[in-house]
Amino acid sequence: MGNFKKGKTMSQVDYSLKSYKRPKLETPNGEKKLLLHSCCAPCAGEIMEALAASDIDTTIYFYNPNIHPKDEYELRKDENIRFAEKLGMPIIDADYDRDEWFERTKGQENEPERGERCSTCFDMRFQKTAKFASENDFDIISSTLGISRWKDMNQINESGAKSSAPHKIPYWDFNWRKQGGSSRMLELSKKENFYQQEYCGCVYSLRDTNNWRIAKGRNKIERGVKFYQEAKLKLSQID
Ligand code: SF4
Repeated sequence: MGNFKKGKTMSQVDYSLKSYKRPKLETPNGEKKLLLHSCCAPCAGEIMEALAASDIDTTIYFYNPNIHPKDEYELRKDENIRFAEKLGMPIIDADYDRDEWFERTKGQENEPERGERCSTCFDMRFQKTAKFASENDFDIISSTLGISRWKDMNQINESGAKSSAPHKIPYWDFNWRKQGGSSRMLELSKKENFYQQEYCGCVYSLRDTNNWRIAKGRNKIERGVKFYQEAKLKLSQID
């Protein structure tokens, strides 16, 4: 377990990518082929690396028709492809069927984040992931969605289990935030200088985040310009 020693407090633990050795991950029942739904590079990066280090045969499934507008979608997708290619991990560029996404979320436009619209959004993404997995000889699915502290993990896991069951594909509800995952997610995002999106993804989350920022006296989101290295990480600490 590397530098992760029992009894240390969070602030004392060295999670740096240089010195941290992850516990080896194992699928719940020894499943061999994992289809990992990915929402974006910052959330996926650490998980992808951990899976690669654990020799789990992983394919990334980028299916996010919720992301709006299209240029934001392309940017988030390209960042994920860039890192997958770096790791040599296969990545599937799935449909951008946003008409169906808007159709499904009709009437939920004013739901808050973590509300019913998000359940609809997760269901749609998990259903498609599970269907693809069952049709293409994968043994299990999972998703990067739960690593973000902005998300409700129970809501995500409920959706994952419910959506995969009809396709007879198990859903892996591993808590990716554990074992230093959240800290390494941030470190890796800075190291790789990933694009740092400032809203969840859909047009309604963009609207609500902008309204919140205006109420706080801040400027509206300027999309496509913020990258993690602006956080001035001392790269010498992690390389
Ligand atoms: S806020 Fe995020 S999870 Fe919720 S509906 Fe919008 S894109 Fe989907």
